[in-house]
Amino acid sequence: MQFSNIIGLQNIKQKLVDMVHDNRISHGLLFLGKEGSGNLPLAVAFAQYVICEDKQQNEACGKCAACKKAAEFIHPDIHFSFPVIPKKTGTKPVSNDYITEWREFLKNYPYGNAFDWLQCIGAENKQGNITAEECNDIIRKFSLKSYESEYKILILWLPEYLGKEGNKLLKLIEEPPAKTIFILVAENEEEILSTIRSRVQLVKIPLPDTKDVQTALIKGAGLFDDNALDIANLSEGNYRNALQLLQHSVSDWQQYLRDWLNAILKGGHPAITKLIEEINKQGREKQKQFLQYFNQSLAQSIRLRILGNENVNISSQDKDFAERLNKIASISQQEKIIEELDKAIYYIERNANAKMLFHALSIKLRYIIQHKTLILTK
Ligand SMILES: [Zn+2]
Repeated sequence: MQFSNIIGLQNIKQKLVDMVHDNRISHGLLFLGKEGSGNLPLAVAFAQYVICEDKQQNEACGKCAACKKAAEFIHPDIHFSFPVIPKKTGTKPVSNDYITEWREFLKNYPYGNAFDWLQCIGAENKQGNITAEECNDIIRKFSLKSYESEYKILILWLPEYLGKEGNKLLKLIEEPPAKTIFILVAENEEEILSTIRSRVQLVKIPLPDTKDVQTALIKGAGLFDDNALDIANLSEGNYRNALQLLQHSVSDWQQYLRDWLNAILKGGHPAITKLIEEINKQGREKQKQFLQYFNQSLAQSIRLRILGNENVNISSQDKDFAERLNKIASISQQEKIIEELDKAIYYIERNANAKMLFHALSIKLRYIIQHKTLILTK
């Protein structure tokens, strides 16, 4: 993974490169960025830059032996820790149990989130964990000298999944052996053990600009300008969402959403039931995507209303739809709907019964849309 593989984030890349050139690499770094920001692939690219044997001005060479190993995620001095589940009930897993799956994940879904990863290892509804055994494993690995590179690096993805056992790592993070770098890659700062948080240097990773996402979609996914623009706008810089939207054509979701809203507003109970039967067949991930699409469309409508036509770059099909959404609900109603959609997404991820959830959501949406004054005064 090289810096050029990461979407946008030019300023951060430059800061990281400067850190290496000026010999000021902190032994503990926290790459904090929202889902879809690319904080994980950025950490991986940074690690490769550090160990590259023929560093270019702003990029690893990509050709030296170290780069080649790093590109396959098999460099012996770049270690990974991440949430896992027991392979058998009652066993205590460490990250290495899933290293093959992890390499595949990094290769295929570098912008994926914890949900995607846990699906990859067949966790179904089990919660992942970074275990006490994993912490012991990290301590053991870091008691050894590096093998091939000057530095030994640990990329610990989602320290949010470290329970109190994370305190085992404090001494190591506070008094690290020479030439070691810990990179914690996190999404929610407040969910990290404060004892660990206070011992590392914060590197904030913003979401890439819409324009950068659009370019990535045109170059990487071969999209046409307009289509890429729609998806980039809807995803608001979250590249994971952008890729998910790609899997299902945006116009399909839009038609489905139009039908659903019509059924809700015109009160056709049979029409709602028919649509819910259809979405029920789609599976959890698609259901979630659909709700996210709805959510992002509302956010786009709000932007259009606040900033005005001339300041929002949007295709005509999406503009027409955004204007319709603005006609049926006020901003406060739209915000209330967004809240309900967020809750629904949360429950879908935790395997709620989709039929019941979509029925309840239909009733709630109708209630919100029909009770303008009630919502406005709330
Ligand atoms: Zn190299």
